[in-house]
Formats: sequence, structure tokens, C-alpha cells
Amino acid sequence: MTGTGRSATVVGAGIVGVATAIALQRAGFQVTLVDRQEPGRATSFGNAGILSGTTAMPLATPGILAQVPKMLLDPLGPLTIRWSYLPKIAPWLVQFVRNAQPARVEELSKAIVALSKPTMSAWMDLAKHAEATDLIERKGWVGVYEGENAAKKAQADIDVRVRRDIKAEMLTADEVRQLVPGLARTVTHGVFHPEAGHTVSPIQLTERLAAHFRRAGGILLQATVEDIGFTDGRPTHLVTDKGPQPFDKIVIAAGAWSKKLVARLGHTVPLDTERGYHVMISDPGIDLRLPVSSSEGKFFATPMAGGIRIAGTVELAGLDAAPNWKRADALLEKGRRLLPGMKTEKVETWMGFRPTLPDSLPVIGPSPRHDNVFFAFGHHHLGLTQSAMTGRLIAQVMTGTPPEIDLTPYRVDRF
Ligand SMILES: Cc1cc2nc3c(=O)[nH]c(=O)nc-3n(C[C@H](O)[C@H](O)[C@H](O)COP(=O)(O)OP(=O)(O)OC[C@H]3O[C@@H](n4cnc5c(N)ncnc54)[C@H](O)[C@@H]3O)c2cc1C
Repeated sequence: MTGTGRSATVVGAGIVGVATAIALQRAGFQVTLVDRQEPGRATSFGNAGILSGTTAMPLATPGILAQVPKMLLDPLGPLTIRWSYLPKIAPWLVQFVRNAQPARVEELSKAIVALSKPTMSAWMDLAKHAEATDLIERKGWVGVYEGENAAKKAQADIDVRVRRDIKAEMLTADEVRQLVPGLARTVTHGVFHPEAGHTVSPIQLTERLAAHFRRAGGILLQATVEDIGFTDGRPTHLVTDKGPQPFDKIVIAAGAWSKKLVARLGHTVPLDTERGYHVMISDPGIDLRLPVSSSEGKFFATPMAGGIRIAGTVELAGLDAAPNWKRADALLEKGRRLLPGMKTEKVETWMGFRPTLPDSLPVIGPSPRHDNVFFAFGHHHLGLTQSAMTGRLIAQVMTGTPPEIDLTPYRVDRF
């Protein structure tokens, strides 16, 4: 529906697009949600499920430059760059390293926290509205630390949070084991993050929200968006494999694939992808009560409806290269080492594309070029976490309500 009352089209039915579509619907818009796949089948399918309003730091921190050679040499490491992709990712890497300067890290940390801190309240509001509260647990998560510098690293992780008024509690080895029985003996310290939650099924969560959106009158259109069409210089329709789709207002929420559409709308963004893997273990034979994150291995082990999911790590290799399944094998091995009692006979592997900008912030807000264009993409490691807030912010902007946080750090023209 266009031309009559308030209507909007959202491109991308990942968790960000679906949460945004519902927020717009709640604000009185007739919404069409367009995706080439069923909702939630891309990156939002396989994440670790953490609603981590407790994350306070960007990925690039001082000292990152010294780690680049290691990233190139170890294809199975927690953060790796494929040699063949190096020429393409080089400009992104330059910006990434620039963002690691202490003063800049401080600014970025504030912007991450502003967006992430209301996570649980935003998510509970959305889940209640969409009848999905049964898919969300509010038990917090525990970070575990091994090795020589375990105590120092745990304390540093607490300090960055306490400075931003986020709760984080130091745990001794015994206390960690009370929370997570069966942890490897190498774990000597833990940090408990009580203000976080997790979903027991990222895909069911997106599907449940999408079903609610539909029941409330939203239109789900399965189509590939090939281009944006203009009339007299104004964006007016999507060019899709199902024909032209006119729109009044448009939100681009196409995750790691947003760059081309954003370029057509007049903005150049250094969007790339941090690929991540998961291993889903059914019948693990152990009772993991809450998510555990390995500081060494850079992965989460999350209890989910279908078993335990080990998910994480970063591979810079673009959108087209085939997965390196050895990385999933390595994840499984690390998971096994952390939880030695876990049975791993039944496993499924997956790879997904985190949409990532070099400052670890998403783009949220209006286009300075076209008054009917809005953006919601680039949520890197925190797309599930930040999706409920993103939807709310976009709805505020599109209804002319002052947004509840300052959107300057997330502007599309900040690069
Ligand atoms: C291993 C791993 C673990 C993670 N763990 C967590 C976690 O614990 N917590 C957390 O908050 N985040 C986590 N993330 C990050 C999170 O999953 C992402 O940030 C989030 O899923 C991004 O959502 P999205 O809706 O922007 O993108 P997507 O889910 O990728 O959705 C984009 C959609 O756009 C559609 N699309 C794209 N182009 C077009 C087109 N031209 N036409 C039509 N449709 C199009 C795609 O089909 C897709 O459905 C993790 C990611 C990975 C990889």
C-alpha cells in the first residue's frame, strides 16, 4: 500500500529487519517486509543467542595492529584474515586500526553502551508484544578465564563495565564451577554478567516475531531486491525479481548485503563482513545452565532448545568465499576442551556473515539525502542484542519523535 496514510517497506527480514518492521507497525505504519528468503534464515539463524547489553568495547582496541600478522598466519585462530581477501579488506583494516586509538575507543565504547544498555527492557517489551517471552531466558552469562593472565584479564573486563555502570562480578574458580559444573580444571577465574539474557532459539525467535507481524496485518514479500528505482530523483520503488515494488518510505536492513543498496541511495559505507561459525551439539549429555564465554577461545557455549551451541570467532574473507569448515572443527575441539564431559556425536555446523563497519557501530537513522530513506544495518557481533532498540529508534525517527538516544554516532555519513 502506498500513497494512502503511513506505509513503509523494510528490506531484509533478519532479526534487525523484523524487529524494525514490528516497531513501525506498532507506530501505526502499514509495513511490507521484503526478503529473498524466509525470515531469519541468514546471519540471524545461527548466532550465539546472547542478549548482551553488557558489551562495552569495540572489536578494535589498542594493540590490535600488533595482532594483524598473527591473524594472517593462523587460519584457525579466533580472529583470522584470508590471504586472498587481504587486498579487498585492506581499506577496511586501515579504518579498523585507526579506530583502535584510546580516545576513539572511549567514544565508541560510550556509543555501544548507549545502544546496548536498554537491551533487556527493549527485548522484553518486544517479546511480550509478540508473545515470545518463552524463548528468552534472563539468567545472565559467565565469562571464563584460563592461563597466566586470567586474573588480570577478568579484572580488566570488569573495569570497563563498572566505568559504564554495568554490573559484572568477579568469581573464583570454585564459584564459576558452582554456576557451571563440569568446566575444565584450567579455568581459574570467571566474571558473571547478571544483566544479560539469551534466547533458546534465534531462528524461532525471528520466526515468532515474523508470524506476529503477519497476524497484525504486515505483508511479507519473498523477493530479491536487485536495485532501487527513482522518479524525478526521488527513490520510489524497489526493482525486484518479482517486478517493481513501490514504496513511500524505505528502511534498508539487509545485513551484510546492504552496501550496494545503500550506494544506490547515495552513500558510500565501508561495510564488510566478519564471518562466524557455529557447531550445534544435540544430546550433549551435560546440563549447561547458562551461557559461558571463553575469553581465550572467543566463543560462547549457549544452552539452546536443540542442545548446546558453540558459536563465535571471526574470519575476514568476504561474502563469496566458501566456508572453511576446519574452523568449525576447531570450535568444536575448543568447546570439548572447556566442557570435557560433553558428548559430541551429533553435531551440525553453520557459517554466517556478521555485517560489520570498522568502528563496531551500526548505521541507524535517516538518510541525509532522501527524506523517505532510513538505515538499520551493520550490527556486527550485537545484531540480536541491539535489534529491539534499533527498531524502536527507527520508529521514533520515522514518526518525528525525538529518539531516546543521540543517533549522531550511528549516522550513515560518518565515514
Ligand atoms: C557466529 C555468530 C555468533 C553471533 N552471536 C551473537 C550473539 O550472541 N548476540 C548478538 O547480539 N549477535 C550475535 N551475532 C551477530 C548477529 O547474528 C548479527 O548481527 C545479526 O544476525 C544481523 O542481523 P541482520 O538482520 O542485520 O542480518 P541478517 O540476519 O543477515 O538478515 C539480512 C537479511 O537481508 C536479506 N537480504 C539481503 N540482501 C537482500 C536483497 N538484495 N533482497 C532481498 N533480501 C535481501 C537476507 O536474505 C537476510 O535475511 C553473531 C553472529 C555470528 C555469525
